[in-house]
Amino acid sequence: MAENKELSRGKQLREALQYKRKNGYDCLREGDLDKMEAYCEGYKKYLDAGKTERECVDYTVAMAEAAGFRAYERGMALKPGDKVYRINRGKAIMLAVMGRKGLEHGVNIAAAHIDSPRLDLKQNPLYEAEELAFFKTHYYGGIRKYQWMTIPLELHGVVVLKDGTSLNVSVGSEAGDPLFTITDLLPHLGASQAGKKLNEAFPAENLNILVGSRPLADDEDSDRVKIAVLDLLNRKYGMVEEDFISAELAAVPAYKACDIGFDRSLIGAYGHDDRVCAYASLAALLELDVPERTAVCMLADKEEIGSEGVSGMQSSAFDTFVGDLCESQQVRLDVCFERSFCLSADVTAAYDPDYAEVYEKRNSALVNYGMGLCKYTGARGKSGASDASAEVVGYVRRVLDKAGVVWQMAELGKVDAGGGGTVACYMANRNIDTIDAGVPVLSMHAPFETVGKLDCYMTYRGMKVIFEEE
Ligand code: MN
Ligand code: MN
Repeated sequence: MAENKELSRGKQLREALQYKRKNGYDCLREGDLDKMEAYCEGYKKYLDAGKTERECVDYTVAMAEAAGFRAYERGMALKPGDKVYRINRGKAIMLAVMGRKGLEHGVNIAAAHIDSPRLDLKQNPLYEAEELAFFKTHYYGGIRKYQWMTIPLELHGVVVLKDGTSLNVSVGSEAGDPLFTITDLLPHLGASQAGKKLNEAFPAENLNILVGSRPLADDEDSDRVKIAVLDLLNRKYGMVEEDFISAELAAVPAYKACDIGFDRSLIGAYGHDDRVCAYASLAALLELDVPERTAVCMLADKEEIGSEGVSGMQSSAFDTFVGDLCESQQVRLDVCFERSFCLSADVTAAYDPDYAEVYEKRNSALVNYGMGLCKYTGARGKSGASDASAEVVGYVRRVLDKAGVVWQMAELGKVDAGGGGTVACYMANRNIDTIDAGVPVLSMHAPFETVGKLDCYMTYRGMKVIFEEE
C-alpha cells in the first residue's frame, strides 16, 4: 500500500510540476478541424496568388478592400473601427484597424514579411551559349543552391521601359504558359562534382535559367537563339534588351500549394517563409470589428536580405504610417511606440528527425505542436536577437492560454549549428516590446517548404487574440 501511495504521489507531483508538451491534435476543440481546413484553403489561394512581394501586396489589397479597408490619405479623420491601409512602393503594406482607445495607449502590431528566397535576374541577364539561351541570376536570400536546379520555374516581376512605362511580367502561372529550368549534371559525369563540398559544388554563376533553343530562321549571324528570344519579348512586352537594366524579374518555383500526406495534414508550397505568418496576421486583422487598441498589420519586404532598403522593416515608412495615424489624434509617435506590443510574425524551424544532429530537441519546435514562440533568435550567443523579456513572454503565454491557442516555445537548432534573424530587433529598436512567433517549417528556404495545417491555424488564432488584447 505504502508503495502505491508513493507512486501516486510521484504521479501527482509530475502532473502538478512538470512541463509536458502535447501534440496539438490532442488539444483541439469541437469544430476546430473544420475551421482549420477552411482557413488553410484560403491560405493556399494566397500562396498561389502571391509568388513575389508585389503580388502579395496586390492580393492583400484586394482582400482588404473586400473587408472594408480603404487607402489611407494623410490627414484623413479616423474613428474607432475605421480600417485603412498604405502601400509602400508596391512591395510592402501596412494595414490598421482603429481601436476604441487613443493611440497614446499604444497599438498591437503583427509584423510579417512577404519576400521569399528566389532567383533574381541580373541586370544584363540574357546570353547565348552553344545555341541555347539563358538568363544569368543572382540569388535573393539564403538558399541551398542545389535545391533550385532541375525544378520548374516561373518568371515574375516588372520591367520599366525607357519611356517610363512599367509592365508586369508573369510567365508560368497561367495554364498553358511555358516554364523555365536550370539544368544540372547527369550522375554519369558527376564523379568530380560529387567529391566537392556542397557549398562549392554548385557555383552561383551556374544558376543560369534555360529560356530558349530555337534559332532565328533565315539568319546566318551569331546569337540566333538569343535574338529570337528578344524578338518574342519585344512582341509580347514591347521591350528591348536594354530594358532589362530597369527590370526586377525573379524566377520562382512553379509549384502550386498542395496538401501533403495521406491524411492531408500538411501543406507543401513555395514561400511559406513568411507568407504563412503574413496570411495569419492579415486574416486575423481583417476579422476585427472595433478592437480596444488599434491593431496594425505590417507586411514587410527585404527581410530575407536583412530588412534593409526603403521597403524593408528598417525603413521609416512604418514610422511615417503610424506617425500619421498618431498625428490625427495629436499623439506623439514615441509615446505610442513605448506602449505598443509587437508579434514579429515569422517562421521557425520545425524539428526534422532526418537531421536530428542539428536540433536540440528539448527546445525545438515540433510540427503540430502549435504556434512557435521564440524569446530570441540570432546566432553565436544570441547575436542579432532582440531577446524578449520574461515579462513579455509571460504576457503572451497568458493571452494564448486564456484563449486556448496551442503554442510551443521554439529555438531554431543547436547553438553551435547556426542561427538566423527576423524583423524583431528592428521593432524592438523602436522601443516596442516584441517577441517572435510563427509557424514551424520543414525544409525552410527550399523551393518547396512544408508546414502543418494545425500550426498555420493556431498561428492565425494567436494573432487574433493578440490583436484583441486591451
Ligand atoms: Mn522569415
Ligand atoms: Mn527566411
